[in-house]
Amino acid sequence: MSTRITHLIAGDPWEGAAERTSPVFNPATGEETGALDLASADLVGEVVARAKEAWASEWGSSSLSKRTQVLFRFRELLNERKEEIAALITAEHGKVLSDAIGEVSRGLEVAEFACGIPHLLKGGYTENASTNVDVYSIRQPLGVVAVISPFNFPAMVPLWFVPVAVACGNAVVIKPSEKDPSAVNAVAALWREAGLPDGVVNVVHGDKEAVDALLVHPDVSAVSFVGSTPIARYVYETATAHGKRVQALGGAKNHMLVLPDADLDLAADAAVNAGFGSAGERCMAISALVAVEPIADDLIEKIKDRVGKLVTGDGTRGTDMGPLVTQAHRDKVAGYLDSGVEAGAELVVDGREGDVDAEDGGFFLRPTLFDKVQPGMSVYDDEIFGPVLSVVRVQSYDEGLDLINANPYGNGTAIFTNDGGAARRFQNEVEVGMVGINVPIPVPMAYYSFGGWKNSLFGDSHAHGMEGVNFYTRGKVVTSRWLDPSHGGLNLGFPQNT
Ligand code: NAD
Repeated sequence: MSTRITHLIAGDPWEGAAERTSPVFNPATGEETGALDLASADLVGEVVARAKEAWASEWGSSSLSKRTQVLFRFRELLNERKEEIAALITAEHGKVLSDAIGEVSRGLEVAEFACGIPHLLKGGYTENASTNVDVYSIRQPLGVVAVISPFNFPAMVPLWFVPVAVACGNAVVIKPSEKDPSAVNAVAALWREAGLPDGVVNVVHGDKEAVDALLVHPDVSAVSFVGSTPIARYVYETATAHGKRVQALGGAKNHMLVLPDADLDLAADAAVNAGFGSAGERCMAISALVAVEPIADDLIEKIKDRVGKLVTGDGTRGTDMGPLVTQAHRDKVAGYLDSGVEAGAELVVDGREGDVDAEDGGFFLRPTLFDKVQPGMSVYDDEIFGPVLSVVRVQSYDEGLDLINANPYGNGTAIFTNDGGAARRFQNEVEVGMVGINVPIPVPMAYYSFGGWKNSLFGDSHAHGMEGVNFYTRGKVVTSRWLDPSHGGLNLGFPQNT
């Protein structure tokens, strides 16, 4: 049965009739479960107007204590509904339930960070910068901001941005992925329950038409985008050309460098967890395992052994790994298995073989392991975004480092070693935004900022943490003098402090 999924505007589901819809699937069964309304550019304009009105009439000048009360309530509601939201994620994205709960929990941490907004927005104050002149700084909201998110973290990625934007006093229009739209609706509905004025948080569903309408709308002040690199680049270029502040997080190809002195059991566990968790559909997934010889054979044996124990199947059945998000994506990823073999890589584990624990019809591909992969092969060069782990053999730390630094992406990376000096060199020398040392998925905490380098980020501002607070506010510096016996007099020179 297919249910209608629609926009959430000023707290209410949209009641209009959509000109275009998009199908939503349960990837574990292949069943079409929803028909998503796609917004026209005109509807996006209406939503932005509602958001602007809510911002201008109330939220933009709301007190910090009012904002924190709402944020604390939102945090409590999100925590209470965590499992409900996780079930929606699994039903449309396919990731296993425990992973979906983990996703919501990481998003929750950003709401907790945003609860500290009175402290985060404190400015500086300087008494007597000049005689009887005081100077202070304040940070003010931008107005209406847009959040455009990808399919792979339907709840967490919007939560990287929305609580911080709201805490800073902005109104938000979220444009989620059309592949798994229900979780974001469920999270957004909590804001009204938490006491946020209607119109401050809105969800508009859609595709390129809706995105383009947001990128050029004169009342959208800032855009936070997460998705693939070509679209991130396009969003950055288009929205900045229209005068907006933009942070656009793009794709990734994350390498894990394993030195010969590493604990190989720990490294094998990490490679399997980070390579195949969420079926490899994580921007922090490890897809290239760089083994410094002579350990590659041993490491591959250990990984093969672990992969053999993984159960792939319906994420509601306690399996280890779920399906890919759509049939088309599943087939695209499976296509890399042929192209890898044709290019000369060795297929150690073929994900097309073996059973899955699910009804027929799901978009499954089991974990796949390649050996002897090299740059120039599409299996290495492309962001596959599926359960395909490629081993690249190198002869030294330097060769491994050069390989990572030559890659156009720079989202996350990891080193596995017991040598503190080597790890310290790596953290200093690697040109990647998030680095793990014996940690395979180095996703920072909410109070640090998330983001990569090079083609993994367009703009100079990472998500959440203090960079998020700065992104969603504008700084102002005030220089003040209250009347005193000196009345200055005329002086056309540049002000000099006395
Ligand atoms: P995507 O780029 O296809 O879509 C992202 C968003 O852009 C969606 O809301 C989509 O509707 C919209 N969009 C798609 N095509 C568009 C177009 N032509 N014009 C305007 N808007 C368009 O990405 P996806 O497949 O949903 O997500 C997976 C990608 O996201 C991967 O590349 C992954 O690495 C990346 N990602 C990056 C991070 C990060 O932090 N850097 C985090 C999560 C995901």
